[in-house]
Amino acid sequence: MIRTRFAPSPTGFLHIGGARTALFAWAYARHHAGRFILRIEDTDLVRSTPEAVQAILDGMHWLGLTHDEGPFYQTQRMSRYREVIEEMLLAGSAYPCYMTPAELDHLREEQRAAGLKPRYDGRWRPEPGKTLPTPPAGMRPVIRFRNPTDGVVAWDDLVKGRIEIANEELDDLVIARADGTPTYNFCVVVDDRDMGITHVIRGDDHVNNTPRQINILQALGAQLPLYAHLSMILGDDGQKLSKRHGAVSVMQYDDEGYLPEAVLNYLARLGWSHGDDEIFSMPQFCEWFDLDHITPSAAQFNTEKLNWLNAYYLKRTETARLADLVRPRLQARGVTVAAAPSLAAIIDLYKERAANLNELADLAEVFYIELHPKAELLAKHLTPETLPALEDFIDHLPEVAWEASAIGALIKASVARHGLKMPKLAMPLRVMLTGLEQTPSVDAVVALFPRETVLKRLAVAR
Ligand code: GLU
Repeated sequence: MIRTRFAPSPTGFLHIGGARTALFAWAYARHHAGRFILRIEDTDLVRSTPEAVQAILDGMHWLGLTHDEGPFYQTQRMSRYREVIEEMLLAGSAYPCYMTPAELDHLREEQRAAGLKPRYDGRWRPEPGKTLPTPPAGMRPVIRFRNPTDGVVAWDDLVKGRIEIANEELDDLVIARADGTPTYNFCVVVDDRDMGITHVIRGDDHVNNTPRQINILQALGAQLPLYAHLSMILGDDGQKLSKRHGAVSVMQYDDEGYLPEAVLNYLARLGWSHGDDEIFSMPQFCEWFDLDHITPSAAQFNTEKLNWLNAYYLKRTETARLADLVRPRLQARGVTVAAAPSLAAIIDLYKERAANLNELADLAEVFYIELHPKAELLAKHLTPETLPALEDFIDHLPEVAWEASAIGALIKASVARHGLKMPKLAMPLRVMLTGLEQTPSVDAVVALFPRETVLKRLAVAR
């Protein structure tokens, strides 16, 4: 049974990089009919906030990355960490170290001065035949992991290939502070073991932690998970992601009018590929997803492609769902969505033209507000040449059958009677009815409105 996890630290929102990690861990579990576990790594009490936890949960929910177990909070597992530390002390794989911070600083300075890499010198590490110093009275020790001193720690990373680190490069890691609180790498190890994680899929900013975590897992006699370290995501400009592009909350994509399926499809292709396929649903992605087609090089964010995907999905989304997504956006702007014209009818006509939900809301808004077309647009299109045709059209409006084809026929007849071409009437109608020079087919736009609203909006011509 495959078991993966997403283990965010709640110190900020769920950003694009975190969301991609979550997506891959989720999809891997789904592909193998396994379990996806959500774990909140909130032991950093200073930097973790409940708002950030909520932001992560909201982001996961918006994307539809549902977990099967959890969320587990590390702050609620403290007694378990202490229990494992006790076991390790008994087994001799961990030991108390009474070195003071001042002594440690002093040691580091000496090592630096001698041109050596600063590291713990093992003075409290028990060895056969070694006499340890006497613990200073009243002092609480930190607990250190007894790291192997020789050999290498190695793993076959499922993305990066084989990675080997010599044990002599690794210090005896502090796993519990003097106040008894466990440290980051230790909690990860206990959790990955207790939660039966088979595949650790995470960002490659954690590669340096992996050898330490493997050594502790081995000391606990735990079965090792497999590791897949995902390369970072660069911004549009090839630089590290910044707030301007992608380091923002995934919820900001919601605010900006993206559909979650477009964001997911986009994220899926950030560092993973399935031939030349660019567009696929999440069920399709879960069926295809594997760890063999993840590129070890950094992926580059491309806003244009995301926008293109969003427009693609928008066109294909059912009108009723789009109406449900656009309505609250209009309400948030203080626009009352009247019964007529129906929002669904507007969206049906306009969804081909919008790249995102906010643009769709912009286009729909003009149907519900008290419209004041720009004076220069009115002046441009309401000319002595076009006015007579417009008047003619208005005169016949009360009796025309209220449907696009009949309205279209009336427009044609009105321009013909005045020796004009279609656009001479279509343009002033567009401007007076929507404030815009570009709309879908003008007869369809007219037909969207109730007849009285059209008469009212065209009254400015008289
Ligand atoms: N809590 C870590 C982070 O947010 C992830 C740890 C892990 O996946 O092992 O970066």
